[in-house]
Amino acid sequence: MKKSVCSKCGSTNINYQAITNTIQKNKYHSLTWWLCIGWWWIPAKWFFFTGIALFMFVLKLLGVRKKKNIIIDRTKAVCQNCGNSWNV
Ligand SMILES: [Zn+2]
Repeated sequence: MKKSVCSKCGSTNINYQAITNTIQKNKYHSLTWWLCIGWWWIPAKWFFFTGIALFMFVLKLLGVRKKKNIIIDRTKAVCQNCGNSWNV
């Protein structure tokens, strides 16, 4: 890892923290989803609400569920001089 310099105060007194977040992604859609499906899916859902609701009900009965565990590994740099933090 290269030595970082604080963008705020220019200090090289930087502390690194490894951050691991586990996000269970089943409620929110990704940007890709919105670009590919979201823009037509939402109006379609309203226009064909009854049909879709029935379809979703059937899917629920069949136990179809989209669940994803996404693990984000990133390192956060914290300036020991001014407290500024950023992702490395
Ligand atoms: Zn700083």
